[in-house]
Amino acid sequence: MLIYTLCVFAVIGFSVFYLFFYRGWRRDRQLQEPFPESWRQLLESRVPLYSRLPIDLRNQLDQHVQLFLAEKSFYGCDGFEVDDTVRLTVAGHACLLIVARNFSDFDEVNSILVYPDTYRVREVESDGLVVSESNQIRAGEASSRGQVVLAWTECEEGAVDPKGHHNVILHEFAHQLDYLDGTADGAPPLSGEQAQQWQKTMTHAYEHLRHSLRHHQKPWLDPYGATEPAEFFAVLTEAFFQQPDHLKQEQPQVYKLLCDFYRFDPLTL
Ligand SMILES: [Zn+2]
Repeated sequence: MLIYTLCVFAVIGFSVFYLFFYRGWRRDRQLQEPFPESWRQLLESRVPLYSRLPIDLRNQLDQHVQLFLAEKSFYGCDGFEVDDTVRLTVAGHACLLIVARNFSDFDEVNSILVYPDTYRVREVESDGLVVSESNQIRAGEASSRGQVVLAWTECEEGAVDPKGHHNVILHEFAHQLDYLDGTADGAPPLSGEQAQQWQKTMTHAYEHLRHSLRHHQKPWLDPYGATEPAEFFAVLTEAFFQQPDHLKQEQPQVYKLLCDFYRFDPLTL
């Protein structure tokens, strides 16, 4: 009877540890490993903002990258070979989004598939009566099941042109943050008052972008952001990190909300 009772307590104890403490314990152990100098050099050359971060944020980014590389699986598609340059470029840009946030924001991300170039996807749509098929060319995509797909040529473009319009890695991982509350609606998880402000300001800015496009005016943001609110958030995120001065000038309230969400102001670097 005593052995039986001890076994029950042991199982309960183990379950509690596994459910609530194991992940933190494993991450603490992972972070005790030294951060390889070759990784630091790759971050310096592949993530332009890295060298401009203050030392505390740079250390935080190193830690996030270390956990990212330990926990997420990379797969090369169509014969593409994933090496440290690929891993550090993707992890460095992805973790830039959460450099001042918690690594747990990426808990649900489990795999990254990398194609050598833009790739073709066959899309089948049905409205109940008509089934239509189309071939789409994609630079990347994110799924709510924790998968991110990237085209390496597009990743390279973002890495070499830090002030360009596009950065597919920032874009797709912004979608992952949007999925955190279970819906891809352009609003990541926010507290009460912040959520209200977000809803009001972002709806207004989104409609303003759509209005500019309808009236053939030069849009203040990549027009792809006008396709749906989820894309609006992803495109805004690219602009926030790549062209913060432009975004702040055009939409100061949107810029402020993004600073609050990312807990970081790129213009202070
Ligand atoms: Zn997107």
